[in-house]
Amino acid sequence: MRGRLALWLRAQIELGVFETKADISAFVLNTVLVATALATATYLIAATVLAYFDLLPYSLSSAISFGGSTTLVIAASVTALLAWVIGMAIHELSLSRAEFERRSRLDPLSGLFNRRAFTEAFSQTAENGFFVLFDIDRFKAVNDGHGHAAGDATIAAVSQELRRVFLPAHLVGRFGGEEFTAFIRSEDRGDCWLLVEEARRSVAARRIEAGEGAIAVTLSAGIADRRDGRSLEAVFEAADRALYLAKSLGRDRAIHEDEGEELLAPSRKVAGGRRR
Ligand code: GH3
Ligand code: MG
Ligand code: MG
Repeated sequence: MRGRLALWLRAQIELGVFETKADISAFVLNTVLVATALATATYLIAATVLAYFDLLPYSLSSAISFGGSTTLVIAASVTALLAWVIGMAIHELSLSRAEFERRSRLDPLSGLFNRRAFTEAFSQTAENGFFVLFDIDRFKAVNDGHGHAAGDATIAAVSQELRRVFLPAHLVGRFGGEEFTAFIRSEDRGDCWLLVEEARRSVAARRIEAGEGAIAVTLSAGIADRRDGRSLEAVFEAADRALYLAKSLGRDRAIHEDEGEELLAPSRKVAGGRRR
């Protein structure tokens, strides 16, 4: 019984059945109707049985009119109170669960999807598109020259630009440190370039206030095709290689994996894996 009750409660919380006050009122009304019907029926059956065996100290008609209405009023008010308390408790639990879920998916500094949420959202979509790996150029110099707080402000400002460019149509997240990932929901390479260039240009144009002056940073990006269900690991690796090339060619630019393949071929013989 306790197990079933726990399961029922969990289902209500997860399904968000008690999302609004109207949902709670509907639950209260249903519960009151069922409880009063059951209580009144039980009372009437009991009174009739007692009257049949001549055990009622008063007539059946008075038992029905007085006892019946009293039972109805008491059952309705007690059930309404209990159902409202239970409904409100489930409502509050649903709200905190939703808030907890939201916070566990967002990176607190950037307000973007964190790595877990991005990975989940990316894996859940079977759509073709483009995976983009962004990296702030020479970010260590920002931390070293202006302090860690200015570095954080820079990450927040870059995130704001990325959010403006990519949301709500596409996915964007902070993968970690000063690296960001985006999934562009379009198969048109022209669309992809427009978006990536807009992100790159708007970040380069942004001035971030940092005490004694303003900071300006640039972004490099590696782009990989996401088609035929290519996994996140596969697109990440391809985009990372393209990003490495963008860094080698002077930074503040985006490179598609196809452009990178030939140019990288000789260096791959020398070094493997991530090379930044
Ligand atoms: P490159 O152009 O090759 O990418 O150079 P870079 O200096 O950006 O690269 P590197 O990986 O050497 O530096 C990244 C730095 O980012 C190192 C790390 O201390 C800093 N960093 C990582 N996460 C955070 C963060 O949350 N806040 C701040 N302020 N710094 C961070
Ligand atoms: Mg990096
Ligand atoms: Mg960097």
